[in-house]
Amino acid sequence: TQVFNFSSGPAVLPADVLKQAQQELCDWQGLGTSVMEISHRSKEFIHVAEEAEKDFRDLLNIPSNYKVLFCHGGGRGQFASIPLNLLGDKTTADYVDAGYWAASAVKEAKKYCVPHVIDAKITVDGLRAVKPMSEWQLSNNAAYLHYCPNETIDGIAIDETPAFASDVVVTADFSSTILSREIDVSRFGVIYAGAQKNIGPAGLTLVIVREDLLGKAHAACPSILDYSVLNENDSMFNTPPTFAWYLSGLVFKWLKKQGGVAAMEKVNQQKSELLYGVIDRSDFYRNDVAKSNRSRMNIPFQLADSALDKLFLEESFAAGLHALKGHRVVGGMRASIYNAMPLAGVQALTDFMVDFERRHG
Ligand code: PLP
Repeated sequence: TQVFNFSSGPAVLPADVLKQAQQELCDWQGLGTSVMEISHRSKEFIHVAEEAEKDFRDLLNIPSNYKVLFCHGGGRGQFASIPLNLLGDKTTADYVDAGYWAASAVKEAKKYCVPHVIDAKITVDGLRAVKPMSEWQLSNNAAYLHYCPNETIDGIAIDETPAFASDVVVTADFSSTILSREIDVSRFGVIYAGAQKNIGPAGLTLVIVREDLLGKAHAACPSILDYSVLNENDSMFNTPPTFAWYLSGLVFKWLKKQGGVAAMEKVNQQKSELLYGVIDRSDFYRNDVAKSNRSRMNIPFQLADSALDKLFLEESFAAGLHALKGHRVVGGMRASIYNAMPLAGVQALTDFMVDFERRHG
């Protein structure tokens, strides 16, 4: 049976990329060694690093006044980096709360400032939704605004393009949605994403930061979290996660070959419509997020009869559909369908769901 992996992260990688990495593992570029075993300062690795940055910039159409940093520390590292780099002499920042990860960012920010929390969670016709951006009440003394455009656990997305006053520094946690759809980078001050969902292996975190925001880090900011230090050292102040960087570079090349982000966006729309369609057409399955805020990347769903959950998971696993168990705080099921999940994988899942309902409904 072909296996399709619906893990929320670390998550599926393109099969072609894994094959290439496997072929190159022990003898990379004829060097007789793997890319993991060479110096990050070697000309060979620097070439890998530069190519990866160039391709990432191309894919997201990143303007030249933005720096791209390849960091350690994951999404949670950035929960600290953002206040440590951007607060300056301010003591507060606006934090929009629309789910688990946005709330986790608030918790970390409290170590460094007094966050002004904008609770954007609403219910529309009994469905979970998010207040439109025009209703976010920003404070007038905030150093920046932070939000999470895709809540990996809640299955909630905020797809609106920020259009705030030009002096509002918008920062956003794109960990589970980066490169899945086109975005206008120029509307943001900082965009960050852990690599392990939509990019590559865990251990690498991508940060896109507008140049004029550099140089304001708190005196106590650890150097490895300081955007200016990372920038001045081409993201090699300390030894970077070289293998994750290399593999992410292969993923960027793969994405370009697929037609780039616009092409991925189309497929991602098709995949998510297919899955939501099956959920919505039946009383056996349910997703309780309003259509306007449904995530295309992480789709939680419940069985009407939760007594069948265990059987669903056993049978789906046996059918090659892995990692469908919902997050422990939500329960039920969750299918994460990042860029590397082919349409055929979602088709296999929906075929299974329809058949499971026929047999147990
Ligand atoms: N932000 C989002 C949206 C996430 O989905 C996750 C992890 O699942 C995190 C942050 C935390 O990332 P990390 O484990 O890399 O610190």
